[in-house]
Amino acid sequence: MLVNLNDILKDAQKNQYAVGLFNTTDSDALAAAIAAAEETKSPIIIGTAEVLLPFGELQLMGPAMIHMAKNASVPVAVHYDHGLTFDKCMEALKLGFTSIMYDCSTASYEENIERVREMAEIAHSYGATIEGELGHVGDNIGSLEGDSHMEDPSAFYTDPEKAKEFVEKTNIDALAIAIGTAHGTYTCKPKLDIQRLSDIRHTIDTPLVLHGGSGLSEEDFKNCIQNGIAKINICTDLYIAAKKAMDEAEGDYHAIRPEKVKAIKQAVIEKIMLFGSNGRY
Ligand SMILES: [Zn+2]
Repeated sequence: MLVNLNDILKDAQKNQYAVGLFNTTDSDALAAAIAAAEETKSPIIIGTAEVLLPFGELQLMGPAMIHMAKNASVPVAVHYDHGLTFDKCMEALKLGFTSIMYDCSTASYEENIERVREMAEIAHSYGATIEGELGHVGDNIGSLEGDSHMEDPSAFYTDPEKAKEFVEKTNIDALAIAIGTAHGTYTCKPKLDIQRLSDIRHTIDTPLVLHGGSGLSEEDFKNCIQNGIAKINICTDLYIAAKKAMDEAEGDYHAIRPEKVKAIKQAVIEKIMLFGSNGRY
């Protein structure tokens, strides 16, 4: 069934588990993610992101994702992750995405508030939810998004008091926070600021989102969920699992495909079990 973030994250937050966002840029990843959620009776968020559109067009993947979500036996939110431009966010909403992220985290604090506030009004008029980002989750060197803040990441961490003001002024449904994670593959072991997460959790009620989840340890995830994270974004780990399966598979094009789907499904199941969203539906 097709749902938005509010339908699944409020329960997650109340019962201290997290729901994964898994990016599905092609039909293989899409089939794998939905199958994993159904098998484990878990709510799930599937998505694509603006930087991932070269690998799967919005007009191609959007309708497929929405179709699969509607027909799934578990709640599925279809989320446009890291929307960077107004026009692409609008395109996603018009296609029927039930949730968008409008990422203005590299703009000034005031501009971030203004742009996200305006988009929140629009998203809500579509019955969709919206995620904003305060502070900035940077990228590991060599990742898709290019830049890196790993030299002094703490300069970009989310300030708890500003987080309160930000959600009040923008009226967003979920907040991505920066506490030491980064997108892509980690080149050094990430050190998470759990105290800061806990401070933010005590300041606001809005579901909190952890980006850059690929490559974190089991302990990191558990710590984050216990201290208030309700949504965790996973992307790179799925690509790694798929690439390995394709490298090891034998046979022709059609023989490789099911191995790839199986590997992504298994990687999604592992995260679902770790996040504790299994058996919720
Ligand atoms: Zn992200």
